[in-house]
Amino acid sequence: MDDFWNRCLDELRISTPPDIFETWYSDLTAETDLDIGAITIYGGSSTKARNVQSAYGDTIQKLVNRLANKEMAIHWATRETPAPVSVSVERAPEPSIEERTGLLPNLTFENLVEGHANQLAVASALQVASTTNAIYNPLFIYGGVGLGKTHLMHAIGNRYLELNPKAKVRCVSAQQYIQEFLNAINQKAGSNNNDTAMREFEQRYRDLDLLLIDDIQNFAQRSGTQANFFQTFENMVPHGKKIVLTSDTYPNDLKDLQERLRSRLSQGLRVSVEPPEYEMRVQIVLQKAERSQLKLPLEVAEAIAANLKSNVRELEGAVQQVIAYSNFHGEEVTLEMAKMALRDIFRSSAQPVSVEEIQEIVAKHFNSTVADINGKSRKAEIVLVRSIAMYLAKELTTKSLPELGKLFGGRDHTTIIHSCKKIKAQRNTDENLRHVLHLLEQRIKN
Ligand code: ADP
Ligand code: MG
Repeated sequence: MDDFWNRCLDELRISTPPDIFETWYSDLTAETDLDIGAITIYGGSSTKARNVQSAYGDTIQKLVNRLANKEMAIHWATRETPAPVSVSVERAPEPSIEERTGLLPNLTFENLVEGHANQLAVASALQVASTTNAIYNPLFIYGGVGLGKTHLMHAIGNRYLELNPKAKVRCVSAQQYIQEFLNAINQKAGSNNNDTAMREFEQRYRDLDLLLIDDIQNFAQRSGTQANFFQTFENMVPHGKKIVLTSDTYPNDLKDLQERLRSRLSQGLRVSVEPPEYEMRVQIVLQKAERSQLKLPLEVAEAIAANLKSNVRELEGAVQQVIAYSNFHGEEVTLEMAKMALRDIFRSSAQPVSVEEIQEIVAKHFNSTVADINGKSRKAEIVLVRSIAMYLAKELTTKSLPELGKLFGGRDHTTIIHSCKKIKAQRNTDENLRHVLHLLEQRIKN
């Protein structure tokens, strides 16, 4: 056993709520070489290794550096745990759902908080998961980072499999699809044009009832993979087999996607997930705490939701931090304590973005000017640009309504309220507006 990794696990066990520890950390193993400053961490399965890496990679990196007292290089290994020394003759166990399909059992509809931001996406996802006819095919889910696209995709797969236990479901990241495709090509090239591997690869995908591919934007510039995926698509969709895709980019903006593929993607339904609004953030924080069996006072959940606005992963991180702090000190959570536990997170998320910056970004996007935004013009185009800037300023800064009024050319605060309401309502029905707001939000936050 690796002593160094055992020490890491001991620390994680103390600082992490039991269900998270069991789910994510308990079966990780590692081999450490402290002299050269490198550690190889093995996940229980390749899906698991990838998911731990993306969700908790930072936490582990910090911990490992701290315990080793230097910057360590982490290598994430995708093979199973290191080969045991003694060989046992037991029969291989049945593959788990996760191994068979790539679906993570924890990412379900039950664990997903619904709100304005994802209402449409959840409703469409439920349709796809629970009906046999394929009306929304393919379903294309897009939105910014950490907003729940991957979660929603796995939820569809899990629900579908619950309702159709015999169905063939496969859930992969675009990266994984690309890798499998390349492996098949390489084997063919390396074995005298023997295309068994390629046929196996294609069969694996064509026999499916439901195929879910995450982060399809990674197909950009991969014309070979795209051509192959086009064939997969043609073999599935016209026969009523379902495909669900996610992307961080609006489909029409996907660069370097072959036209025929783009046009196929637009045949189905496109839905966006938006950044969660305040009430939804409160619910998410409460839910994450409850799942970790932490008693979290409402005022603490509200403080977290008020301070962390951009994505759900950030909210999860905050809840974990509070849990670690409360376990470590052996105290119940209070607002004071949570503020203490989260002081660094709150400080680094303290709004660096100003209303002026927002006005500039919005003006530039619409080829308008800040002077127009703050001026008196009642021209429809300018009123719309102004309203969008007001809406984003309200969402993305902590300025009060009267302060915003002043910063928008000395207007009354009721004008700000009116504009925000108007944009909020229009956002629900107007896909173009959602797309523009999404773009602007990303630009403002970066
Ligand atoms: P994306 O794929 O859009 O980057 P993820 O699906 O990985 O985002 O979500 C990031 C984290 O936030 C995950 O742990 C996920 O379970 C959680 N999450 C996202 N949206 C919600 C939600 N609406 N309710 C509960 N948890 C959520
Ligand atoms: Mg994702």
